[in-house]
Amino acid sequence: MIVSVASGKGGTGKTTVAVNLALALGDVQFIDCDVEEPNAHLFLKPDLTEKTPARVMVPEIIEERCTYCGKCAEVCAFNSIAVIPPNAGTKGGVLVFSNLCHSCGACSLLCPEGAIREVHREIGVVETGQAGSIRFAHGRLHVGEAMSPPLIRQVKRHIDRTRTTIIDAPPGTSCPVINALDGSDYCLLVTEPTPFGLNDLVLAVEVLRVMKIPHGLVINRCDIGDDRVETYARENAIPVLMRIPFDRVIAEFYSRGINIVEKNRDYAEKFRTLFKDIRNHYETDRNHQRKRGHG
Ligand code: SF4
Ligand code: SF4
Repeated sequence: MIVSVASGKGGTGKTTVAVNLALALGDVQFIDCDVEEPNAHLFLKPDLTEKTPARVMVPEIIEERCTYCGKCAEVCAFNSIAVIPPNAGTKGGVLVFSNLCHSCGACSLLCPEGAIREVHREIGVVETGQAGSIRFAHGRLHVGEAMSPPLIRQVKRHIDRTRTTIIDAPPGTSCPVINALDGSDYCLLVTEPTPFGLNDLVLAVEVLRVMKIPHGLVINRCDIGDDRVETYARENAIPVLMRIPFDRVIAEFYSRGINIVEKNRDYAEKFRTLFKDIRNHYETDRNHQRKRGHG
């Protein structure tokens, strides 16, 4: 079973929940897809034994063949190529903004002169290893890179579907999140009971509905803020699977890289119960879908 842990916004405690869930379960895989800011390794402290460069294909112009016809710039939906035609005896030029390129291959396919070849460009690295009984993988996007989805997909190639997998998804609701959540059996949304928390939660729920991924909530710092997140969950039949109160001790552990389940047995049990509830909710949802599918 693949369980993603996501949040509509950063700072809700998503990684804390993902890491503690993995530690409470023990024999799982942990895939950190928050490649712009991976920090689960700070808490799981894996022994990283393998490092693989993550590459994408980008166009390279063969100047001597180019006629500056402009077709490549026309076809690029991401404005990653600009063609400067020759003018009054000055030579033309083709500029490739490779950090904007989505590696779709359309420009090289449609260039009438065969003047574009595809070359590798490294955007980050994938590191894998072991943290006790937890198999670990994460991606690190190189500084200044804008294209995290290809790296996320490369990290996810390490998922072994025969094992329980916890994915730490990036925060937000944009392309990287969708790439991280794609293929998940269940998504745990970590939120907080504030107006910002609710606003971003609603957006995240809309994404999950479109993706047809069953989901439930963890409300972090549940004893501060207001009750609008609880009301929203009730009105939309989204189960609240766990509530974590604001606790100075948890905050202190976090700041020192210590995991709550390693210090507090009650929390270890709570996280195991959380996983059982996830499984039950997933099974119930699947049974409903089957019944609906059979009319
Ligand atoms: S499509 Fe090919 S020939 Fe035309 S401007 Fe682009 S690279 Fe040059
Ligand atoms: S590969 Fe696709 S995205 Fe990249 S420059 Fe060519 S057309 Fe644009």
